Parts: sequence; C-alpha cells; structure tokens
Amino acid sequence: MFHKLRFTTCADIAYDRHVIKLSEKIKKINIDGTIAFNREMKSFTTFKTGGPADIFISAASVEDVIKIKQFAFENDLPVFILGGGANILVSDKGIRGITLYTGDLNMVHGDGTDLICESGIEVSALCESALSRSLSGLEFIYGMPGTAGGALWMNARCYGGEISRIFKWADVLNENNEMERIGFSPADWNYKISPFQKRKILILKACFTLKPGHKDEIRREMDKNYRDREQKGHFKAPCAGSVFKNNRDFGKPSGQIIDEAGLRGLRIGSAVVSDFHANIIVNEGGASATDILELINTVRAKVKESSGFDLEPEVIPVGDWR
Ligand SMILES: Cc1cc2nc3c(=O)[nH]c(=O)nc-3n(C[C@H](O)[C@H](O)[C@H](O)COP(=O)(O)OP(=O)(O)OC[C@H]3O[C@@H](n4cnc5c(N)ncnc54)[C@H](O)[C@@H]3O)c2cc1C
Repeated sequence: MFHKLRFTTCADIAYDRHVIKLSEKIKKINIDGTIAFNREMKSFTTFKTGGPADIFISAASVEDVIKIKQFAFENDLPVFILGGGANILVSDKGIRGITLYTGDLNMVHGDGTDLICESGIEVSALCESALSRSLSGLEFIYGMPGTAGGALWMNARCYGGEISRIFKWADVLNENNEMERIGFSPADWNYKISPFQKRKILILKACFTLKPGHKDEIRREMDKNYRDREQKGHFKAPCAGSVFKNNRDFGKPSGQIIDEAGLRGLRIGSAVVSDFHANIIVNEGGASATDILELINTVRAKVKESSGFDLEPEVIPVGDWR
C-alpha cells in the first residue's frame, strides 16, 4: 500500500489517489537523481524524528531541480526544499507532495577571493574548501549543522559572524521556475531574516566574498569554534540548535529567560529542555515530533506567564500538522 492508514477526510483520499497516480508518472521524469516514496524523515533531520515524505527526490543537478519543479507545477504538487534538516521539525504525519533534497548538490569552486558553491554543500565542507584555498571569512560557521542553502535561508549566525556579511549573490529558481540572480542588498537582511524567506524560491548556487588568510590561523579559528560547540553539548543528543530566537528588547538571551522560568529539564515524553542549554530541546530517544512541538508550546506559554516575554520560535514546523 502506498500510504499508511492515516487519511480520514474526502480531501485526503482524493489527494492519496492523486499521488498514487503520479507515482508512476514521476518515475518517468528523466533525472540523474533518485526518487523514493514514503521515505522516513528521521534520518534527514537533526531532531531524528518525523514521519514519511510522500515523494522524496534527491536532485543530482540543477537540470534535475528544474525538471522536478516543472513537474510539481504541472501536477499541482507542493514542494518542500530540504537541506540538512537542522532547523526543522517534521510532523509525525510526514510531508505531503514532493520533498526536494539538496544534499547531493555540493560542488564548490573558487574565483579569486570568491567562493562559489551549490546550495546543498554542508557548511563545514564549505569551510574546509575555503581553508584549502587559504580564504578566510567562513571560520565562524564551522561545525554548525546544515547546508549553505539552509544557512542563507535562515541567515545563520554564530561566534560574532553572520552569513549575510559574506554573501555576494545567489542563483535561484524563482516562482516562475526561471533562473534569477539575487545580489546582496543590506535592506533585505536582518537578524534571522533573509530575502529568500519572503519568496517561494529555491537557492541553487551562492557566492561568498572571502579574503586571503593564513591556513594555520584559519584552521585554529575553525577548530576553536568547533570545540566550543562540543563543550556546550551541541552534539550530545539530537536537537535543532536554538529553539527560540533572541529578542534584543527582552534585554537577555532566550536561554537565560527560559532558565529563570525554571524550565530546564522540563519534559514531554522523550523531548526535554536540555540540562546544558535551556534554549535547546533534545530528543532523548524516541521523541515524537508532537512531543517536541508540545514542549516548545509549553515553554513559550510558561515563559509568557512568568515573565511576560513572548518568545518567537526559530525551529520551523514542516509537513502535515493537521
Ligand atoms: C547542534 C546545532 C547547532 C546549531 N547552531 C546554530 C547556530 O549557531 N546558529 C544558527 O544560526 N543556527 C544554528 N543551528 C540551526 C541550523 O544549523 C541552521 O539554521 C542551518 O542554517 C539550517 O540549515 P539546513 O540546511 O539544515 O536547513 P533546513 O533545516 O533543511 O531548512 C531550513 C529552511 O531553509 C529552507 N531551505 C534549505 N535549503 C534551501 C535551498 N537550497 N533553497 C531554498 N530554501 C532552502 C528550507 O525549506 C527550510 O525552510 C544549529 C542546529 C543544530 C542542530
């Protein structure tokens, strides 16, 4: 059977039939990448939880991406773009439509002090590539889970750096399935805000402006940041990094606010507010996405009650949450 028994409404049944029909058609799209059905998302997210993606496609080239997006458009299927899965919470019911995985789009090349990459490259691999070219500017992000595309979409920041500060341009597939180059414009970027969030576009390639550096100094800085993450417990248990954004108006980091509300160690099922950082929720093993979302909502409500601060979630719920 194509799906597990989880559909209840007429619309669900109609959708199910639609996808079953398309599954034959989609196998005939001529792509170099791979297509799978009902692929569990656990191994594609850092929370290590989440239900199946109806149609999971790993694109092997830009041409693949264009064909897949065209197919989705013609057949009225939603497309979710999956990078490293390090900032998302996939519903236990999974993701309807196509999940387009970028992890195999990972080419990188240099052009003077510019570093140009495909969007699915892991940020740490991108840092290693900069190091091999004696280029400095990416050290701050070494060790952060996720892809270049995800880091741009989220405007990732850490250790005094922010991806927007080295961003030069991105080649995207826009809403009309056309290639478009988006250059850096300061007004488009802010704390955890990027121009990609406002539009339904797929980042294919990006260019970062770096500067010449010394290999040993670059390595030292990268290792220092990685070790700091290790010491802070980032890699101890499945998580998605900070659950809530920081808000300058609150005068202190979200972790401290959650701590002061006495919520460290709070749990729902196997989802726990970690003992090493109150703004990180970990999956102690077998936590469902529902447990994690409930814990996020509970922390938010309790903080609001005790301090009046309304924390804004950073982790993105993805998929079928009905
Ligand atoms: C242990 C740990 C530590 C972390 N530390 C930090 C930190 O210090 N700073 C920080 O900012 N974040 C941190 N994070 C969060 C996470 O690493 C970042 O947000 C990262 O940039 C997410 O990238 P991703 O590829 O995993 O994106 P995903 O989680 O796969 O996707 C996130 C969003 O980006 C979109 N997206 C991804 N790729 C593309 C693309 N090619 N085109 C268009 N849209 C795309 C997705 O559709 C989704 O909406 C941490 C996470 C973990 C697990």
